[in-house]
Amino acid sequence: MRRNRLSCVHLSNSIWYFERLVTTIRHSLIDVVTLRDLSVKNSKGPKLAFRFDIDIDPAISVKMATYLAFEGMPGSFYFLHTASYYGEWCGKTFVRNSKLRSYIREISACGMEVGLHNDLLGSFISHKLDPVDVLDRELDWLRSVGGDVRGTVAHNSLPVYGAANSEVFSECMLWKRKVYSKNGILPLSVCSMKQFGLEYEGTFFNAKKNLDMNKVKRFVGGEPIPDIRSQEWFYDWIVNNPIHNNVCDYQIWVISKEMWVIAGNNENMYFKWGVGFDDVIDFISNVQGDVKIMVVIHPVYFCEDVLV
Ligand SMILES: [Zn+2]
Repeated sequence: MRRNRLSCVHLSNSIWYFERLVTTIRHSLIDVVTLRDLSVKNSKGPKLAFRFDIDIDPAISVKMATYLAFEGMPGSFYFLHTASYYGEWCGKTFVRNSKLRSYIREISACGMEVGLHNDLLGSFISHKLDPVDVLDRELDWLRSVGGDVRGTVAHNSLPVYGAANSEVFSECMLWKRKVYSKNGILPLSVCSMKQFGLEYEGTFFNAKKNLDMNKVKRFVGGEPIPDIRSQEWFYDWIVNNPIHNNVCDYQIWVISKEMWVIAGNNENMYFKWGVGFDDVIDFISNVQGDVKIMVVIHPVYFCEDVLV
């Protein structure tokens, strides 16, 4: 449907919708673990982890962590170091938001996992910052305020910068190449996760061998156009990605008001687009075997005031 310029669409669900989701998943009896535990190889039985990419709203994230704790379930929350809620640049000085410390402490105190939402290529492109310096500084700080940080999750998808943020880590390089930006060649494979005490990278990309470079160029070049609410893009990004497979068997994303996607990896090619709450619960309740499910939540979709 074509919208005129003055109309807007509500994208957000309520916090009560999230609470109903958590309670219903608890009743499904699936084993809910942290992302760190989901990253462990050879685990037995179906496992589900909640991954919270805090791109925008940390206050709603605290409410979500509190409810998870109420239900006795874990969640993994990743703070985006380039977001305005995290801090801002005043000339050459970076000032962290004074409330950030309490958000991290409150979420940690709920027993949740806390990590860094990695936008190291973004901070290189915007401010020419060395990813190793930023990582060192922010991990030290997050740990100093109580976050037991064991993992990072890359922000944005690969076509945004021409490389995935996870590729700053040598363990996560998808294929060897040079990528140019306005601030010079992107710093890829410049450090290891191990040197920072990191145990996993939570996008769980698994690099493919023998890439079809024509398909890779199309994908990196923006075909289809990267858009989280495009069915074609989402399918190519998760299920049929020409560059990487995914360690998780299934990912479940909320992408709008009462709108979910269930996407399998390259092996099972499962794809359900635009499904609702009941379909998500039905899927989770019926998985069997040693299956890993990652539920990816952008808290902003639960803050009731998001419009486009
Ligand atoms: Zn993000």
